[in-house]
Amino acid sequence: MGQDQAKQQIEKGLQLYQSNQTEKALQVWMRILDKSSDLVGRFRVLGCLVTAHSEMGRYKDMLKFAVVQIDTARELEDADYLMESYLNLARSNEKLCEFQKTISYCKTCLNMQGTRVGQQLNGQVSLSMGNAFLGLSLFQKALESFEKALRYAHNNDDKMLECRVCCSLGSFYSQVKDYEKALFFPCKAAELVNDYGKGWSLKYRAMSQYHMAVAYRKLGHLGDSMECCEESMKIALQHGDRPLQALCLLCFADIHRSRRDLETAFPRYDSAMSIMTEIGNRLGQVQVLLGVAKCWVTKKEPEKALDVIEKAQDLAEGLGNKLSLLKLHCLSEGIYRSKGQQRELRAHVVRFHECVEETELYCGLCGESIGERNNRLQALPCSHFFHLRCLQNNGTRSCPNCRRSSMKPGFV
Ligand SMILES: [Zn+2]
Ligand SMILES: [Zn+2]
Repeated sequence: MGQDQAKQQIEKGLQLYQSNQTEKALQVWMRILDKSSDLVGRFRVLGCLVTAHSEMGRYKDMLKFAVVQIDTARELEDADYLMESYLNLARSNEKLCEFQKTISYCKTCLNMQGTRVGQQLNGQVSLSMGNAFLGLSLFQKALESFEKALRYAHNNDDKMLECRVCCSLGSFYSQVKDYEKALFFPCKAAELVNDYGKGWSLKYRAMSQYHMAVAYRKLGHLGDSMECCEESMKIALQHGDRPLQALCLLCFADIHRSRRDLETAFPRYDSAMSIMTEIGNRLGQVQVLLGVAKCWVTKKEPEKALDVIEKAQDLAEGLGNKLSLLKLHCLSEGIYRSKGQQRELRAHVVRFHECVEETELYCGLCGESIGERNNRLQALPCSHFFHLRCLQNNGTRSCPNCRRSSMKPGFV
């Protein structure tokens, strides 16, 4: 198969893929890999295969193709191709919740001296790095990366990237419990989809709706949350988007738990869990287990709750996700307090405070915790963030955490 023929076949695969004939598209692309020795063609096909497997939630295959793509890029001896394939490697690891690896591959990308074409990927690299920092609950670093990604998106007028960053910022602010911003950013993403997204994949719409659903639930607007989640799930089902289906099921379960309808919540947690396990989203599994544990606490079944908490703790420790650990210790604390088991209670209190230290989830101005309850937050240009009210009442000219001088509000 020659260069032109490979190009033609890639196009054919893309058309099949866009009309939802995924398996056929994969067959066409795999045949090019078998038959064509044209390196550029092979590189492009591998890129298509990485994206397709990412969207289907087949992350191990995604990783496999990313690795082959790096070899192809090396043969091509081209810095831009190499950078693109390292970004794919970083993304595969992000999906598999290998956050440390993701960060290190992202750093490799950012250190590469690509041309202007390669540099345009920097925004996506920063986004992936931010997601990985968020996975490790390193909030200030996550925010710094998201801000960088957003700046690249603006400078390159890249609305798709902006949309994705807004969704990640929604997730960030929902974790640190500024629910107003947790809703603002995905709403902004939905606006971008409406204004610019005519030719975009529907997954952008689905993604923004899902993040809105999460924020609405946390704000207690359960009806709105349900509506957004249903919209997102509809698209996820149409497109065979397993990862998003799992997230929506988790959100449905959480909505029912918020309504205290535990009998409806449990089966949805189960379904979410089985997809999360199938695709290898371990952080998702921890979130499901957290929800299930809270249900058992509500049902006054402390032993069952503790069982689930133990499983979740093992997973969260493996991932390095400090925020989940913090929440799990907090849950255990409550359980042991009501059982009157002082020794266990004290152990969890100590570990809870260790997690607070490690995540630096406290305001550098008033010293009180961040993320305990819904509070308006504001970041400075150095990406340190504080209670909004504390910054407004503060007279100093520099950041209390790092002493950088600008006190004007940051971008995000
Ligand atoms: Zn404060
Ligand atoms: Zn600072």
